[in-house]
Amino acid sequence: MNIEPQQLERLLRKAPRPAAPEGLLEKLKADIDLPSTPRVERDTRPAPSFLRRWLPALSVAIWLLACVIILAVQSSLISTLRSENEDLRAAASQSEQKNIKSPVDELTKLRADNEEVRRLKAEVARLSEQLNELESLRAENRRLAAELQAINSIAAPTHDDFFGKAAETVELLTCIDNLKHVCLAARIWSNDHGEVMPQEFSEFEKILNGPKKLFCLHGQGTTQYEIVSPGVGEEDPSVVYLRCPHHPAVALIDGSVQQIGSHKLVVRADGKTVIGN
Ligand SMILES: [Zn+2]
Repeated sequence: MNIEPQQLERLLRKAPRPAAPEGLLEKLKADIDLPSTPRVERDTRPAPSFLRRWLPALSVAIWLLACVIILAVQSSLISTLRSENEDLRAAASQSEQKNIKSPVDELTKLRADNEEVRRLKAEVARLSEQLNELESLRAENRRLAAELQAINSIAAPTHDDFFGKAAETVELLTCIDNLKHVCLAARIWSNDHGEVMPQEFSEFEKILNGPKKLFCLHGQGTTQYEIVSPGVGEEDPSVVYLRCPHHPAVALIDGSVQQIGSHKLVVRADGKTVIGN
């Protein structure tokens, strides 16, 4: 008898289930031999503290913070050094410019000083010349005084006449000396004022150290000299600049003093006052 496998399967499925022997299940369970699992040891140590756990991270953070601070300080130092470097360069540049300019200024100043020295030397030479003239005039005055004394001694004056004439002589000599001094002071003033003689005594009184020399001894020192040619130029030495209202004595532009005697002062066609014939 041929039975199809499918038909056989259906028959077997419809067949009642055979009952399992008692205790089979427990026996099979007991025969199961499961591999034993390794026992995990529990860590019984106490948990580490918060600080200990975060210490590595904190160390790294502190290190990074220190690096940032060091970088900031170094950046600040570099910035300061750059600023100082810029200032020094600017100062060096200015110094170089000054060094280039200063020799030119120095040369100009030296030239000006040299010019001033030359001018002063010329001035000293002129004043020395005038001083020599003054000395010669004094010698002439002494000679005239000696002549006067001789004439007076020949005339055999009385006692009063002798003293009177001696006083007149002293008065005249002092007058001539004063005229010379005043005229020289006016010339010194004119050297600084365009070679033009002063208009008034007040303009050059300081050079004479006071007004004493501006008065003749005649009349107990109340006779003031007269400026005959105020504001005249120095070019013509024959022009009369100063005269005494009492004595026949005049000072010319060149600083010399002359006794004019019977001569009179005249005004030329060009408006200059000179001694007439
Ligand atoms: Zn006089």
